Amino acid sequence: MVTAHPTITSPAALQCRICGQQYPVEPLTVCEECFGPLEPAYDLQSVDGMDFRKQAEAGPATLWRWAAFLPVDTPARGLPVGNSPLLPAPRLAEELGLRCELFVKTETSNPTHSFKDRVVAVAAAKAVDLGFEALACASTGNLAGATAAVGAALGLPT
Ligand SMILES: [Zn+2]
Repeated sequence: MVTAHPTITSPAALQCRICGQQYPVEPLTVCEECFGPLEPAYDLQSVDGMDFRKQAEAGPATLWRWAAFLPVDTPARGLPVGNSPLLPAPRLAEELGLRCELFVKTETSNPTHSFKDRVVAVAAAKAVDLGFEALACASTGNLAGATAAVGAALGLPT
């Protein structure tokens, strides 16, 4: 039976991608030991792959289809992001000497035409979960655009 809600609801910890140090799931961004980036660590051994696949396939046509693997309590907020198309690239495949079909992912169907919409959608949803009242980022371009767009959609100053 397919359940309405994901089976993986929250990460077990935050883990440094460089040194492996683990931290509690709190608003932290970098490792105190090595300054490496922290990522959510899930207990994947407890995941029923077939059940998860059915849930993902039944989910919305956005990145929130993968909400079970995203570190947010309340997904599907803000703008519709993700589910961008794969385009065939036969001439590139030929140039690379590939003997198979090659597809490239285009992110231009996202709200600000950037892959940055994905990370900002998740970060903004988590910011709301944590009770933050504004969004901010350091950016030279498309990250700021994505942050401004999701902030407007959520009613948060950026
Ligand atoms: Zn570290």
